[in-house]
Amino acid sequence: MLELDWSHLPFGYVKTDYNVRCYYRNGKWGEIETSSSEFISIHMAASSLHYGQEAFEGMKAFRGKDGKNRIFRWEENAMRMESSANGVMMAVVPREIFLESIVKAVKMNERFIPPFGTGASLYIRPLLIGTGARVGVKPADEYLFMVFVTPVGPYFKEGFKPVSLLIARDHDRAAPKGTGRFKVGGNYAASLAAGEEAHAKGYASALFLDAREKKYIDEAGPANFFAIKGNKYITPKSESILASITNKSLMDIAKDMGMEVEVRPVEVNELDSFDEVGACGTAAVISPVCKIDDPLTGHTYSYCKDGQAGPVSTKLYKRLQGIQYGEEDDVFNWNYIIE
Ligand SMILES: *Cc1c(COP(=O)(O)O)cnc(C)c1O
Repeated sequence: MLELDWSHLPFGYVKTDYNVRCYYRNGKWGEIETSSSEFISIHMAASSLHYGQEAFEGMKAFRGKDGKNRIFRWEENAMRMESSANGVMMAVVPREIFLESIVKAVKMNERFIPPFGTGASLYIRPLLIGTGARVGVKPADEYLFMVFVTPVGPYFKEGFKPVSLLIARDHDRAAPKGTGRFKVGGNYAASLAAGEEAHAKGYASALFLDAREKKYIDEAGPANFFAIKGNKYITPKSESILASITNKSLMDIAKDMGMEVEVRPVEVNELDSFDEVGACGTAAVISPVCKIDDPLTGHTYSYCKDGQAGPVSTKLYKRLQGIQYGEEDDVFNWNYIIE
């Protein structure tokens, strides 16, 4: 067994043994290849470098209580990458190639899957980039799909700790008919300034509003927004947010727990009426939100008592993690068990 301080690993890059690559050339995908190099060699005029033709995914594999390794909802990530590829005019990775590549990347780096009980997991990063040389603005004719994995520690090292958010009044992440609903690097480039400004002021993340009216909540940096109000789980409906698979899963769990789920435009004005607020995504599952500051009005919206996460967010978080680590019944059939 590999000796790593699993419980204290950051959410960062750790070199593993192998990665997987598959090239699209002459209108078709080639064989799945494995490599032990951390580097790729591409043409300097590759469309991904100049015109942002790229999309990625983020998912995790977990070593379960029973010793089995599970990948969480891979098909959802495959479908989302398909949608992102179509969104920025790239070749679509067939679902069989996606699955075979992630399974291979996980299996070949089996010694990096953290032990059960450490709270750590193996992060899987599928990446699709335009490699064809382009100077004129036009989709590439060649693509590279690759998958690397890296072990990541538990997001909350001192327990399930609430964070604060800063409403981004001077920045937008994505336009209503733009690429906000695709998982493409350009959205991240567009969100960096707001994110760094929020970090510099001590916030975990920027909270983006709809770009048209600055009236509705979009999402919290690289995570979706949700709120709990009484027996309701409320999450924004917007054409410029990336549909989080964690959010989708939490909605199913909330319904299963007897809650009502509302997917609708959520106004900034409503923030005062919520009992709990959280940001959700693969990295943390849920980041409970303690407070949100609005620099326009100077108003602070507060949620947690004694710096603690709310009871509903805590319950949702535990149930989802329990399913991922095989401690709870996978009643939704979300796990792919690696044989
Ligand atoms: C990846 C991502 C999320 C979270 O999605 P999950 O599938 O839950 O990991 C949320 N917002 C943005 C902008 C993202 O890129």
